Amino acid sequence: MNRLLPTSTAGSLPKPSWLAQPETLWSPWKLEGEELIEGKQDALRVVLHDQQNSGIDIVSDGEQTRQHFVTTFIENLSGVDFEKRETVRIRDRYDASVPTVVGAVSRQRPVFVEDAKFLRAQTDQPIKWALPGPMTMIDTLYDDHYKSREKLAWEFAKILNQEAKELEAAGVDIIQFDEPAFNVFFDEVNDWGIAALEKAAEGLKCETAVHICYGYGIKANTDWKDSLGAEWRQYESVFPKLQKSTIDMISLECQHSRVPMDLIELLRGKKVMVGAIDVATDTIETPEDVADILRKALQFVDADKLYPCTNCGMAPLSRSVARGKLTALSAGANIVRQELSA
Ligand SMILES: [Zn+2]
Repeated sequence: MNRLLPTSTAGSLPKPSWLAQPETLWSPWKLEGEELIEGKQDALRVVLHDQQNSGIDIVSDGEQTRQHFVTTFIENLSGVDFEKRETVRIRDRYDASVPTVVGAVSRQRPVFVEDAKFLRAQTDQPIKWALPGPMTMIDTLYDDHYKSREKLAWEFAKILNQEAKELEAAGVDIIQFDEPAFNVFFDEVNDWGIAALEKAAEGLKCETAVHICYGYGIKANTDWKDSLGAEWRQYESVFPKLQKSTIDMISLECQHSRVPMDLIELLRGKKVMVGAIDVATDTIETPEDVADILRKALQFVDADKLYPCTNCGMAPLSRSVARGKLTALSAGANIVRQELSA
């Protein structure tokens, strides 16, 4: 990117109500067969248009073709039985009924590659594609086969690497791995989580990113955040090792978070996607709210490495709120761009 402070979103954007129930995670599709395929592509075009209209520089598919950022990927793998369910604790936070790993996992077919080609054909702008990270994937499953979180994560990393290489060949500029689990299992992150992430990104020539947030704006997450005290120092445990990793960019939650901004200093040298839009509220930030966060971040990240972004995905928000937030992000980045060039 030649432009200073290129804007993007962390991942998902709301789906149109004719495609899926709005403001709901895991919302079932309202279409089927050929109509569903066309509907997903139409929705992808709409969210691309919304991003372009708002002045977003690095665009994405807004995850219009997937029901959920982790589940949809796993559904396309063998070795996981979605009928056989067990209740497990997700990210040490809430119980959920999850599928069971019953045998060796492998990718049966490309998962998002056709969708990425479709997006690529619609725009010349840089595009970013999100995949779940290996540690976050294992955290949403019951493992009755490998019986080792590390082993299963490693197998997923190899599968993700196959998918990532095909996404790169389809013309994706930035491949992002979503690892909210990095904010919870610090010892595992340092023992093998970052190594698994690097395995997933191995050999890629496009840019690579990892998104580490405090989760979607759902109740289980906001309750958890309320319990974290006045200062959120979770990032402190994983940044030093991430700084030494092969991953190019780190995506963080900064707007309305209680993360001390100076923790970003621990990433010095990396590109940082600074979350300047809160996805857990319907209140639309003003451009000045966004600019404020970016100015604070600029104390700890060089201007040419600062990428204004959202805290997390916006799937659970209404479309009008999400559009308002995209526009605010873009306008806020513009204010700081002008300050920097003055
Ligand atoms: Zn997130």
